Amino acid sequence: MSVVDCGPLTLEKAKLVAFAEGTVSIPTTVAIFQHPQHGVILWDTGCNHAVADPEEAEGYWGAGIRDAFGAQGFTRNHAIDRQLDFMGIQPKDVRYVIYSHLHLDHAGGMSYFPNAVHIMQRAELQYALFPDEWTRPVYVQNDFRDIHKLNVLLIDGDHDVFGDGTFRLIKAPGHAPGMQVLVVTLQHRGRFILGADVAHQRDQFEALIPMPWDWSCHAMTSSRKKIKQLERSGIPLYLCHEPSEFNALPQGGRYWD
Ligand SMILES: [Zn+2]
Repeated sequence: MSVVDCGPLTLEKAKLVAFAEGTVSIPTTVAIFQHPQHGVILWDTGCNHAVADPEEAEGYWGAGIRDAFGAQGFTRNHAIDRQLDFMGIQPKDVRYVIYSHLHLDHAGGMSYFPNAVHIMQRAELQYALFPDEWTRPVYVQNDFRDIHKLNVLLIDGDHDVFGDGTFRLIKAPGHAPGMQVLVVTLQHRGRFILGADVAHQRDQFEALIPMPWDWSCHAMTSSRKKIKQLERSGIPLYLCHEPSEFNALPQGGRYWD
């Protein structure tokens, strides 16, 4: 497994952690697995390449959203198709794309992978296609424009992707209705959790502070406690948008196996 940053964002911390002060620069972690039997597997896809161009971003994400999420540092080379290209992987080589949830910084590369099986929670896709008014900005309908042409595997609840315990999805709703985290077991590295947006920052996770965009604070708190218990039992947890946790993972062509 190797990771890349497919969505550097610089924004007021209060947009991530209720009532926090100051500004933060965060990565958006996308994980790439080269599996001996199952081929290339992606965990999330980052932001769409349209966001690299200020004018295109207005049309693709919607007016003012690029500025609101501080995506000015996102360049064409940050998009997952380019990052894979740098690693010698073509879009057609990607066999599985697993989504933690379908927000704009996680589902932006969906249309790059027509040959893959796209795995997501049913509750997440249903909500993403018809979100509440107030969550509409984070569900970009342009990201889902190919959804009816793709091979989509909808799952309900926890799921063992290959039936061998190596890729286990645990439903963790709250930030989004169908958010899930991935518990991976690698042969040498052992088990760890890619925690997606179960919290955006480590201090937030520890103190169980909501994010203003959390779909349900109530569900989020119980999901956080569930994942906290897994971490407490000894499984390392890596949050998608926490810089120090992204930096602790092998990046851009370095691998854990
Ligand atoms: Zn996110």
